[in-house]
Amino acid sequence: MLIQNVHLDNQSETSDVRVTDGKFAAIAPHLTPQAGEEVIDVHGNLMLPPFVDSHVHLDSTLTAGQPEWNESGTLFDGIRIWGERKQTLTKQDVKDRATQSIRKMLTHGIQHVRSHVDVTDPSLTALQALLELKHDLKEIVDLQLVAFPQDGILSFPHGKELMEQAVKEGADVVGGIPHFENTTEYGWESVHFLMDLADRYDKLVDVHCDEIDDPASRHLEVLATESLERQLFDRVTASHTTAMGSYNDAYTYKLFKLLKQSQINFVTNPLVNVHLGGLIPTPSAAVLPGLKSLPQPA
Ligand SMILES: [Zn+2]
Repeated sequence: MLIQNVHLDNQSETSDVRVTDGKFAAIAPHLTPQAGEEVIDVHGNLMLPPFVDSHVHLDSTLTAGQPEWNESGTLFDGIRIWGERKQTLTKQDVKDRATQSIRKMLTHGIQHVRSHVDVTDPSLTALQALLELKHDLKEIVDLQLVAFPQDGILSFPHGKELMEQAVKEGADVVGGIPHFENTTEYGWESVHFLMDLADRYDKLVDVHCDEIDDPASRHLEVLATESLERQLFDRVTASHTTAMGSYNDAYTYKLFKLLKQSQINFVTNPLVNVHLGGLIPTPSAAVLPGLKSLPQPA
């Protein structure tokens, strides 16, 4: 394939680019089309490497309002509503919605996608659908799938078995959600479990970690320590980590030393958390609804 009149990075003049067997074969000011070669003139448009979407949930994509709208706008209500929608999943349903979203991504130049997939479902319907889709679309998108325990590993029946089964069926990355587990101790244990699973099966790690406005949610230190001690380093990613915004300065300062040593990656998801964060009423406002009518200090 010959692409003519391309603007490349930091160059004022256009170039022609030849692609042979999926690789750049030649870049020059003017290349002569070969016999039978497909030629596209892009009239001076800019050529960029494909973009990466490092955090999406293709199993739950395009389900807003099903079976109800998230009126509170909180993450935990979103999880509850998804829990109901999850009961009605079929492979075709997941594939149709995920394909629609992937097509939108492609039109925006995204060709590398990491999708979390809820595996707290005894049938693993969504995982199987997305594994099939990953195979079907491999020529146009590089799809990486995270075994994501939406309802917890320790707090969901057979959570550990489902995580291991998901990895055996082909998940590329091991996920987690320690702040959502029923107890802090379950949260810690879930991190130990998932890091061990990733280590044993030679998988990457990407954990939804401390996505809550609770300053006492401190699973990130456990994830980072495990990454350091197992020497998994940048094979490990922490997603969200919004509790960090509520930590006190002394703790955060100490934590940053560990985070740097551990070399883990972060995916921050600002567009998601700007909507989901800070929505829980303060206890005083909830307990004392008449507070606003009290005289304000001068
Ligand atoms: Zn997520």
